[in-house]
Amino acid sequence: TSEFDIVIIGAGPIGLTCGIEAQKAGLSYVIIDKGALVNSLYNYPVTMTFFSTSEKLEIGGVPFISDNPKPRRNEALEYYRRVTLKFNLNLRLFEEVLSVQKTGERFEVQTIKETYRARKVIISTGFYDLPALMEVPGEDLPHVTHYYKDPHYYALQKVVVVGASNSSVDAALETYRKGAEVTMVVRGPEIGRRVKYWVRPDVENRIKEGSIKAHFNSCITAIRPGEVDLNTPEGPLTLQNDFVLALTGYKPNFELLRRFGVELSPDQKLYPQHNTQTMETTQPGLYLAGVVCGGMDTHLWFIENSRDHAEKIVQHILSQDQSS
Ligand code: FAD
Repeated sequence: TSEFDIVIIGAGPIGLTCGIEAQKAGLSYVIIDKGALVNSLYNYPVTMTFFSTSEKLEIGGVPFISDNPKPRRNEALEYYRRVTLKFNLNLRLFEEVLSVQKTGERFEVQTIKETYRARKVIISTGFYDLPALMEVPGEDLPHVTHYYKDPHYYALQKVVVVGASNSSVDAALETYRKGAEVTMVVRGPEIGRRVKYWVRPDVENRIKEGSIKAHFNSCITAIRPGEVDLNTPEGPLTLQNDFVLALTGYKPNFELLRRFGVELSPDQKLYPQHNTQTMETTQPGLYLAGVVCGGMDTHLWFIENSRDHAEKIVQHILSQDQSS
């Protein structure tokens, strides 16, 4: 069993920031991730461009230099890896955390490999591991995915893109430009309002000229090999189809949060309950950091406005240590 002041669950940008702050404060810590370093970013589409400018993605006071107005996924991977190496952060990768249990004043954190003991635990597990499902028959077929990776794969194929948020719009434009025949299926009446302002006219004009087809106020009702059924304002419709990119959003792993001892709000938002000044949950010594804090409101937090969770937590731990 290894013993630390703090166990940090999740090596995303905010988990790493927590490690940096703990290190600066002279606290012992370990950051544990079930996947690769900055696993969520690693799983983004290879061509993805951030909506944030590079300085807003910076952590630990290390400049993020990019000559693009908005950095790309590959640059961000490079940046967070270099920051990790610079601070020589204490990490365990490809080690999923299974449970967090408090016995007396100590936490026991059980992973697939080891048991860790800690005085404090920070949960920074993000929201990219679980897709928001459409709950339609055929959603689990192998040609249906909630994670779009690379446009080339879809060349010369009939692709249905579900949704009209940034992920969907990027996927529709990119696959169209690699020769896919793209149809967007959009629940609302228009392209999402949060779509990057420099991308929106591009997709709207492609739809207007008919090079990308779009069904608004519509949804998929069933998926079969070779076909999808839609419900449209004009009535039901069946389209020939090779692949479905269901980019319908993601949500935190609520079951995991509950299992780790976090209370969720009783409404549909399922906000993980915590003190917004200290980031401590209702369980003393158990903290939340990063985008996981938003519950179902996954647009509430991003890197820029959740970086300071790390400092708040470490300051709270230090002040408690002083008073005890
Ligand atoms: P994450 O980066 O999601 O890190 C959570 C980590 O926890 C993951 O590495 C995961 O593997 C790990 N984990 C989960 N469960 C376990 C477990 N049981 N055991 C061990 N490890 C676990 N934000 C911005 O600020 N700017 C942007 O431009 C931007 N663009 C985005 C584009 C897309 C397509 C998406 C999906 C999100 C975007 N975001 C953006 C939001 C962005 O994902 C987050 O801001 C950022 O990744 C949050 O960092 P985090 O550390 O809170 O969580």
